[in-house]
Amino acid sequence: MYFVANWKMFGNLKSINTLDKVIKFSKSKEIKKGRLIYCPPYTLLTSFFKKFENCLIDIGAQNCHENDNYGPHTGFINSRMLKSIGANYVIIGHSENRKKGETDKLINLKIKNAIKAKLKVIFCIGETLTEKKKGKTRLVLAKQIRLGLDKIKKRSNIFIAYEPVWSIGTGHIPKPKELEQIVKFIKKKFKGKSPKILYGGSVSPQNISDLKKINSLDGFLIGGASQNPKKFIDIVKKTYN
Ligand code: PEP
Repeated sequence: MYFVANWKMFGNLKSINTLDKVIKFSKSKEIKKGRLIYCPPYTLLTSFFKKFENCLIDIGAQNCHENDNYGPHTGFINSRMLKSIGANYVIIGHSENRKKGETDKLINLKIKNAIKAKLKVIFCIGETLTEKKKGKTRLVLAKQIRLGLDKIKKRSNIFIAYEPVWSIGTGHIPKPKELEQIVKFIKKKFKGKSPKILYGGSVSPQNISDLKKINSLDGFLIGGASQNPKKFIDIVKKTYN
């Protein structure tokens, strides 16, 4: 199981000390088969990479520029640059960025170039509350998958993170049955081997016992709770107990 910590626009050099507990946990037997990946803001990627030098915790970025080459793009960072500083993952298509205008086409380009740079992609999809109420969840997800992965044949380095927009940061999660059916629906969109599927949206030590019942999930993308080492560790522990 994969446990991806999305720190969003939080954290500074001081927050690195909070990682000691997680590093210790990652070296213990309690981690079982859990794989931990931290996606801090760009400013902390190198510090996290150094901090995790002697353990198996991986790092990833929260977004990237769509160009695969260096160029005059003030304020941006591309996948090659991320790979060169030790990142192995990148989150692409997060709803917080879609909301700001990231289109499926742009997301598709980002994914293509991230794969070219040999990064693993955590490709976020999810419906808004309005879309859900209108019964359009499957339609939205199918479109996001179709356009986001257009002309991408090599999909072995892609993880799909199903993150209902109405669940992010709200404390609300889908009903287990509903979530199970959606995961099944996503898997069916792929001929042959389906990518690994993560669930994201208000995952916490309180609701992980329900979420872990969905056997078809390969892990979780965790926002708010991942900034608290105790909560993050608890989520992993409870997944296996
Ligand atoms: C996220 O935004 O990726 C996320 C999962 O956030 P939260 O866990 O805070 O809902």
